[in-house]
Amino acid sequence: MIEMSEVYKTYPNGVLAINGIDIVINPGEFVYVVGPSGAGKSTFIKMMYREEKPSSGKIIINGIDLSTLKESKVPLLRRSIGVVFQDFKLLPKLTVFENVAFALEVIGENPRNIRKRVLDVLDLVQLKHKARFFPNELSGGEQQRVSIARSIVNNPSVMIADEPTGNLDPDTSWEIMHLFEEINNRGTTIVMATHNKEIVNTLKKRVIAVEDGKIVRDEARGEYGIYD
Ligand code: ADP
Ligand code: ADP
Repeated sequence: MIEMSEVYKTYPNGVLAINGIDIVINPGEFVYVVGPSGAGKSTFIKMMYREEKPSSGKIIINGIDLSTLKESKVPLLRRSIGVVFQDFKLLPKLTVFENVAFALEVIGENPRNIRKRVLDVLDLVQLKHKARFFPNELSGGEQQRVSIARSIVNNPSVMIADEPTGNLDPDTSWEIMHLFEEINNRGTTIVMATHNKEIVNTLKKRVIAVEDGKIVRDEARGEYGIYD
C-alpha cells in the first residue's frame, strides 16, 4: 500500500511543488497521474521511491515509513519498487541481458538463478532473442521493454512510471501499455504519470489529477481532462 498524508515539498530554490497531498493507493491498483506541465506529477512520484524527500508530511510505502527511513535502507526500499522512465535510462555499455541482470547481481543472487530470472522476464517482454544486443541496437519501444524487464526482475510489488510512452509512437505506446496491463494483472500496483490522453481515455483506470501541487480530482475510472 502507498499512503501519503499532509505531504508538502518545497525545493531548495523555494518552489512549492507539492502543496498538501493526502492519498491512499491500494495493492493491485493501476493509477494514472495526470495534469499540466509543472503541476508536480514528477515530484509526487519521485517521493514514492525516495528520489525526493517531502519537506513535511508522512509517506508510507509497503509498510516502510519514508520519513524515518535511513539512507542505508533506501536500496532495500527500491528493491520493492520498479521504476520506468521516459528516456529508458539503460546502461549503454551493457547488453540487454546485463542491464536486466544488474539489479540481481548487486544483491548477490547466484548466477544460475540470475540467468533463469533474466531470461524469464525477457521472455515476458518478448526480447529473449535480443539478450546479447546493446541498447543502441534497439528501437525505442524495444528499449522501453528492456527497462520494464529490468524494473520487474526483482518482483516488486509496486511499479512507478514517469511518462513511459512519452518518447514512443502511438502503436509502440499501445504495446507498452498492454505490457503494463499484463504486469498489473499479475498483481503489481502501477502508478503512472502520463500526458497520453488517448490511452487514459481508452484504457480506463483510476485517475488522479494534480494541479499546482494538489490533487484536484480522483476518480475510479476517470478521464484525462483538458490538459495538453
Ligand atoms: P510535472 O511533473 O507535473 O511537470 P514537476 O514535479 O516536475 O511537475 O515540477 C513541479 C514544480 O517544481 C515545477 O514548478 C518545477 O519547475 C519545480 N521543480 C521540479 N523539480 C525541481 C528541482 N529539482 N528544483 C527546483 N524546482 C523543481
Ligand atoms: P522502429 O522503427 O520500430 O523504432 P527500428 O527501425 O529502429 O525500429 O529497428 C527495427 C529493428 O532493427 C529492431 O528490431 C531493432 O532491434 C533492429 N535494429 C535497429 N538498429 C539496429 C542496429 N544498429 N543493430 C542491430 N539491430 C538494429
